[in-house]
Amino acid sequence: MSSKQSSAAVAEAVASCKLKKQQRRRLAAFDFDHTIVSQNTDTVVRDLLPSEVTSARANELVENDCWTEYMAEVFRLLHEQQVPEARIRDTIRGIPEVPGFVRLIKHLAKRLHYDLIIISDSNSVFIEEWLRAHSLADCFVAVFTNPAEFDASGRLLVRAHHQQSDCKLSASNLCKGRVLEHFVIEQDLRRSIRYDHVFYVGDGNNDICPVLRQRACDFACARKGFAMEKHLLRNRSKLKLRAQLLIWKSGFDLMDQMLALPQLQTPQGPSDRDADGDPDPKNEAPEVTRRASAVAGPAKSPN
Ligand SMILES: [Mg+2]
Ligand SMILES: [Zn+2]
Repeated sequence: MSSKQSSAAVAEAVASCKLKKQQRRRLAAFDFDHTIVSQNTDTVVRDLLPSEVTSARANELVENDCWTEYMAEVFRLLHEQQVPEARIRDTIRGIPEVPGFVRLIKHLAKRLHYDLIIISDSNSVFIEEWLRAHSLADCFVAVFTNPAEFDASGRLLVRAHHQQSDCKLSASNLCKGRVLEHFVIEQDLRRSIRYDHVFYVGDGNNDICPVLRQRACDFACARKGFAMEKHLLRNRSKLKLRAQLLIWKSGFDLMDQMLALPQLQTPQGPSDRDADGDPDPKNEAPEVTRRASAVAGPAKSPN
């Protein structure tokens, strides 16, 4: 590229940045298994195998904590046992919600105009199937999980979401904290969307990493009686959680707690924007400091 061309490209990029007015929104990021759905999608599908069917490879992978590779082997065995795609999809659709979550998701997305995402160590086939069956697919702006597909012979293939070794809190195939941080930064850079409050809703040990990266204006929402809550409460002083902790029992309970938060009493979404969908200009000032902390992340992150 010549210098003339490149300066023209820069000028164009600057112009398009200026055209995009900043939007301020709220984000809710959800885990899937035992948060939105009441079971573990992987183990429910694994249990379609006759109990005597396993393989040396499956045993070795599960012992070495290679969960995604283990599930890939389980899907190979299901295919070998001629368990059809339709039966796997039916099984996923039949998993009940955690009470109140379908309503919570619809309310946040459609009425309160939150951006919603899922960050899950399940896979794209299971999550998309369940969301479609519950008419929730259009409530989420993105689903981050292990990509999967049925091949022409009906075998389910699954790959790791990414490969990482930086974060010791997370599995090598998925660091949910990294996914959440990248999403927030991308929304700002690409779409000029900034989040005043980020809710992270989960239940498990792999939901610890993302909440430790949250800001003081955010909310870590842990399911009562599950591993995430126990870990956060047991290690409270050591972990230096900056986000406000909400402990929830159901989607109904979480919605009640969210609606009662004093920080959230001013409505957001189309109701406080002008006709172009732009935020009220009087709200612009505090954005600078907030953005700096969102991008910088934790002061002393191990990641
Ligand atoms: Mg979970
Ligand atoms: Zn992590």
